This record gives sequence, C-alpha cells and structure tokens, in this order.
Amino acid sequence: MMNHAQARAFRLLREEIYTQLDEVEFFAMADAPWQEDEEASARTLLCDLVVVVRSVVGLHAEDQYGGCGFCGTAWPCDSIDSIHRTMQDPEAAALAQLPRRAG
Ligand SMILES: [Zn+2]
Repeated sequence: MMNHAQARAFRLLREEIYTQLDEVEFFAMADAPWQEDEEASARTLLCDLVVVVRSVVGLHAEDQYGGCGFCGTAWPCDSIDSIHRTMQDPEAAALAQLPRRAG
C-alpha cells in the first residue's frame, strides 16, 4: 500500500507532466502569429513530443508469449491501444492527416 508521501510524490509527478502539456497546448493554440523564435520553439516542442510518444510506445512491445512485455497484459496492451485510438480520434484529425511512414 502506498503511503502519504509516495501518493503525494506520484501526484506531483503527474501534475508536472500535465503542466508541461498544458504549456505546450497553450503555446500551440495562441491566436497571435508566432515570432521567428517561437516558431523555432514550436518545432523543437513537436520533436520533443514525438520523442516522448516514441519512448512510451518503445516500452510496450509484444513478447514471446503474445502479451505486452512491459505491462504483462494481453497484446496490444491498454497503453498502445489508447495511443492508437487517440491518434485515430476525429478530434485529433490533424494527427490522422499526417503522412504515414512506410514500413
Ligand atoms: Zn504495455
């Protein structure tokens, strides 16, 4: 069972992740056109987010038993299913319209 200090640490970790995502979203949704330095930051942020998603996807892979080697559940695990569903979601149409990489 998790003690109070652990629960607080995990909550703060989660809040930190959400805060960073909120800042990126706020930046992306700004009405004013980006300045040159802001556009460069946006490109960096996009690449950073791709690295984050890739790192999560990379953790989850089908193992020799037909399950997720990370989660220990049936393949595809909930994490991969959630990422895939979110990327296919009509609300995320911009992501769905991105050209697919072969292979
Ligand atoms: Zn998994």
